[in-house]
Formats: sequence, C-alpha cells, structure tokens
Amino acid sequence: MSLEPDFQRRFPVPVSPTWLGDTRIEQVRDRTRTGFPRVALFDFDGTLSLIREGWPEIMIPMMVEELQAQGAPEPTAELEQLVGRFVHELTGKQTIYQMMRLAEEVRARGGTPREPLEYKQRYHDLLTARITERREDLRSGRVGADAWLVPGSRELLEGLFTQGVELYLASGTDLPYVREEVELLGLTHFFGPRIYGALEKVEDFSKEQVIRQILSDANCPPEHLVGFGDGYVEIDNLVQVGALAVGVASDERARGGNIDPWKRERLILVGAHRIVADYAEQRPLLDELFAGRW
Ligand SMILES: [Mg+2]
Repeated sequence: MSLEPDFQRRFPVPVSPTWLGDTRIEQVRDRTRTGFPRVALFDFDGTLSLIREGWPEIMIPMMVEELQAQGAPEPTAELEQLVGRFVHELTGKQTIYQMMRLAEEVRARGGTPREPLEYKQRYHDLLTARITERREDLRSGRVGADAWLVPGSRELLEGLFTQGVELYLASGTDLPYVREEVELLGLTHFFGPRIYGALEKVEDFSKEQVIRQILSDANCPPEHLVGFGDGYVEIDNLVQVGALAVGVASDERARGGNIDPWKRERLILVGAHRIVADYAEQRPLLDELFAGRW
C-alpha cells in the first residue's frame, strides 16, 4: 500500500471565477456527457457537517508533538508545514492513513513510531474533548442542527430528495460516529441505510469503492451521478468515473458564504465542475442540475 499522497494536478485553475448567472456558484468547466441526477453522493465533514470543524488544529499540533518527542530535528514551524501538507493531502481518506504517514515520518527521522491505531486513538480523544460540547448541545436541543450544518444543507438535500434522487453519504470518519452525527443533525431520513464510513479493516472502505458500488447497485450511469465534497479525494474519484463533481470550498470556521481559497484551488486541480462556498444558493444550483444543462 503506497502512503505517498496521490494528489495529481490535472486541470487548470482559472485566475478569476466565472459565475453561474448572478450567483456565487463558480462554473469551472463543463462535462462532455450530461444527465439529470438520479443519485447524489455526499461527503460528510466540511461538506454537510461542521461538528468536527477545527480538526486540523488538533491533528497537526499533535503530530508535531509526536515528531518532536521522537527527536525530529526541524524547527517547529517547518514541522508544522510538513505535517500540514500531508494531513491535507490525505484528507478524505480514512483517518488511519494520516496516522500511518505520521509513523512513517517518525521512522524516517530515526525514531520509533507507535502503532498508527494508537496515534488515531490519541487524536480521537483530543478531538472528542473539543467537540463533546457541540454534540451535547445538539443532543439536548440547546442548539438547533442548523448551527452545525453547512448553510443550506437541509434545503439542498430536500430539493434532491423530492426530485427522487437517491442520496448516499460516504465519510472517512469511523462509521459509528458518522451515523451518530448524521442523526444529531437530523439528516438520517435522507440517507436511510446508504451511509458509509471508515471500518476497522482499512481495506473494507474507500470512497472509490462506494462510488463503484453506487454505479453498479443503483444501476446508475456516471452521468446521472452527482457528488458533493470538500476534499480532493472524493472530487478526484467522482471526476475519474465521469460523474458531476461539486466542490464545496467551505470556510468551516467562518461558515456562511466565504470561499476557502486553498480548498478551491485543490478541488479545481483535480477536476471539480462547480465550486460553491455552501448551499445558500441551493435553488439555482438545483435548477441547473435539473435543467440538464451540465
Ligand atoms: Mg470533508
């Protein structure tokens, strides 16, 4: 199994965006084959859910600390850059891949790494401490689901659902947490059993596998599949099979409306057809989808 990030720059990034009509939906490029969406696939964290917002600020310092504890010679700022790069390049895959890479980096510096699963557990404990309050707020009803949803998510899902589009969810986060957080955000009924997440055996899940399964199970030709994601992995996978890829360059901290320029660039480089900051303009987005103009 290769741990090298397989990020490939395949498409040019326009210097200035072309907008769809008077919206802030960026039309990056068109597809050759067009079709109405019959199936839609969503990533979860950063694409629908904001519950885990801020996870890189937990993961990156933890990894830098682990590297330093094992005698990494680089200055902190340099390690932060290095770790930040591979963490983001592996985003969208299961968390364990990021931890495998950390172990590799420790080893490359002559240190003795812990088991990737141990690293993952430590990260999980740190992240849980950060997000427990958010989850409890949702569970108790103190805070409404919209507070931790990418704006317009529910309306977009509803719009697709009422058009008879079958909705799938695939996340690199462990499946039990995905299910729980989908429920906390009140989205379970949209997806039913079509929720996928990381499993104990790493080879039992990948977004690519889910996409292939959708194409065969739902008997759906790729031009009838539309996918939404904020990570390059899912966008890359969608583009590779010929599906329509909507890149969600969500600025998770600011929430409403702002494009994260770093995400935008990465998503376009692997072939996103459209870029949105969120789904505040879900109406024109749905209109375009169902007008079959893509
Ligand atoms: Mg994501």
